[in-house]
Amino acid sequence: MLLNSPLQESKRREAALKIIDSKIKNKDRTHLYDLTGLSGGFPLKKEDIELLETYAGPAIFEEKLQPLGLEHLGGEKVLALNRTSSGILATILALVKSKDQVVHYLPQLPSHPIIPRSLKLIDAQYTEYDHIEDFKITDKTVLTIITGSTMDHQIIRKEDFLKVVEISHDQNIPVLVDDASGARLRTILYEQPRAMDMGADIVITSTDKLMEGPRGGLMSGKEGLIDLIKSKAYQYGLEAQPPLIAGMVRALEQFSPERIIKSQEKKEEIFQQLKKDFQGISKTPTGVMLKEEDLMREIEYLDKRTSLDSKEAAQIMAMILLREHDIITIPAVGMPGASSTLRLDMASKDAERVDVDHLTQAFHDAFGKLTDVLADEQTCRDILFN
Ligand SMILES: *Cc1c(COP(=O)(O)O)cnc(C)c1O
Repeated sequence: MLLNSPLQESKRREAALKIIDSKIKNKDRTHLYDLTGLSGGFPLKKEDIELLETYAGPAIFEEKLQPLGLEHLGGEKVLALNRTSSGILATILALVKSKDQVVHYLPQLPSHPIIPRSLKLIDAQYTEYDHIEDFKITDKTVLTIITGSTMDHQIIRKEDFLKVVEISHDQNIPVLVDDASGARLRTILYEQPRAMDMGADIVITSTDKLMEGPRGGLMSGKEGLIDLIKSKAYQYGLEAQPPLIAGMVRALEQFSPERIIKSQEKKEEIFQQLKKDFQGISKTPTGVMLKEEDLMREIEYLDKRTSLDSKEAAQIMAMILLREHDIITIPAVGMPGASSTLRLDMASKDAERVDVDHLTQAFHDAFGKLTDVLADEQTCRDILFN
């Protein structure tokens, strides 16, 4: 049906935010279940707010961020950026030129769109691998990127991580690790070392993924590289502003792995329930997911005809979950190009309030509704955009 151009995806996100706004106004926040695992937060203290000035703010909060960031990520120097995407763009602008090649190893495709998008912007070459046997660099390669945990939370194997670092460092190629969620998932649930401790030169993580910070990019790395990236970030306005840095500081101060560890029990429960009726449901490190192609397969089992593609179907189901069951998932609120996987993250703060039977029922009902409407373009449009 072609309902997911970047422009339409923006509209869908706008519609989702409007629904959330009206639900909070009509009832209150406790009726909503944000299961994105991205709920983040802004845990500022009163005394922080008075310091949020253009120059005093950075002076204080950047200082405080250094030790906390180094503890979380390892490395020599920390840099705060507006988003993880901004940090990846700043790194590419700093280290890559037109015609240079960047290689990317990730445990499973697809890559986060910011990587190919940033490289396209400067007309650089890009090759991505998700089979370790295929990974190679060429004499044009200037940067290697590793994704520690993908958007769908597929986790890299430690051996593969080390191999990519070794191959790259043999040719003096620096390694940037996109550890948006991996900085916590890999280390807490898979007992892997921090990226910097496995030889990375630069690492970036999202302070709203599996921790209660604001959406922002926290970077660490070798000092010389961080200095180059920092200067680029300033030139293009990609750096974090004082309020964001203050939020990151407080989030790091209060971070504890407990919620991530505790998610395991509820994850098992919901998986067992949903598996009875959805063959394609699978586990993530902290929850369950139905990928867009698996959702399509569930629809095919029912012999339903539709002109929807898998992304559209997933986004419609996510909007139904939001509209009718107060459940927030990424295909409803995500930015254009974000993953269309229906993921229920039991490490989300709101998951503590979730009743597994209720959630299972909501998932069933939303799927039922999706199969009822998927041949009706106007209704699909209304669900997505109105
Ligand atoms: C979330 C994520 C990003 C980008 O984070 P933003 O906050 O959207 O900039 C990049 N890479 C991966 C693997 C991610 O999961």
